[in-house]
Amino acid sequence: MKCTFKYRVYPTAVQEQWLFAELRHQKQLQNYMLQMRSQMWEYGSKSVSLYDQINHLAKLRENSHYATHAQDMQVSTIKRVDTAFQHFFRRCQDGSEKRGHPRYKKSVRSLTWCLRKSQGVRRKPIRETGRRQNRLKVPKLGEVAIRQHRPFIGDPKEVTLKKTARGWYAFIVCEVPDPVKCVPQSACGVDVGTHNFLTTSDGEKIPNPRFYRQAEWKLAKLQRNLSRKKRGSRRWYKAKQAIAKQHDIVVCQRLDFIAKTAYWLFHHKGFDAVVAEELKPSNLVKNRYLAKSISDASWAIFFDWCAWVAKRDGKHFHQVSPHNTSQTCSQCCQRADTRLKLSQRMFYCKSCGIRIDRDHNAALNILFRAACALRGEVWDAILYETRNPLLQQACWG
Ligand SMILES: [Zn+2]
Repeated sequence: MKCTFKYRVYPTAVQEQWLFAELRHQKQLQNYMLQMRSQMWEYGSKSVSLYDQINHLAKLRENSHYATHAQDMQVSTIKRVDTAFQHFFRRCQDGSEKRGHPRYKKSVRSLTWCLRKSQGVRRKPIRETGRRQNRLKVPKLGEVAIRQHRPFIGDPKEVTLKKTARGWYAFIVCEVPDPVKCVPQSACGVDVGTHNFLTTSDGEKIPNPRFYRQAEWKLAKLQRNLSRKKRGSRRWYKAKQAIAKQHDIVVCQRLDFIAKTAYWLFHHKGFDAVVAEELKPSNLVKNRYLAKSISDASWAIFFDWCAWVAKRDGKHFHQVSPHNTSQTCSQCCQRADTRLKLSQRMFYCKSCGIRIDRDHNAALNILFRAACALRGEVWDAILYETRNPLLQQACWG
């Protein structure tokens, strides 16, 4: 299993100049390799493989400015182009509507290099001893200051240096041994929404923090500021940077919240299995009244994080079909005859007379649906005993 560790990096002004030049070079190389593939196919009907391009790079490096740049970074860029094409071919084969041919890049924001082995020992990404410790080793550049707020674990394989609006970050990809999957003893259904970010099947709620909505007035102010500057001027550029920084803050806040919530579910609440709906936020955002709130809640990222935490710590995460989870009674499996509106926060069942919070009801339904789908797991048996007899009939036949 691969684990990525993220650290803040502080290059000096001179180093930053070098890094920007390197980013420009990698962008040119990426576009060149993309052009090579497209044109060879278009005019010569010949497909170019990853190894053809790596061999071509070796020739380029013999007698040109290419030799002054780090080879490991150039190879990573070629691999990136190859991955883009592999995904494109896969989409063509799947027959998806949007094939998405790889595009020419206007700018590249990250540099990647692999940590090769020399004489059986892998090169270390960070200097950890001596007076000049806590320095990231960048090929051809030297050592860059890094804030290693926690040690990485496992075998480091690859390093990526990325420029964001608020600074530089290093991502160290490490190979760690796969954890042993636990036998699930307890499970929890989770319903996500815009009113409450999350409702568990125990009835616990986490309010939606709405980070974007909170920052909207700040962004409006900054954008107003930008509109008053002359386009392309130095002050215009500064104002533009300020907006990018504000967006970056919102992204970081959201990610922090999501990561902590996913961790809370598995570790603080102690659930071994978490079940959620299999939503497609890309379809949901087509609703123009809710698009902003749905995008702000970032459910897809939350599900990804749940899956990731489960994978990392040997827990379980499942997703079930979302159809009618909020329209069905969790006690008697009876569908409501009139569709429940989003503004109605309580679910009232006419057949069994239960009155229950709508999100709680949906979370219970999600849990029961997963229990039907995954019969035989231990937590499923526990659930089976505690469930309503009517539901048992409905689910187990
Ligand atoms: Zn009912």
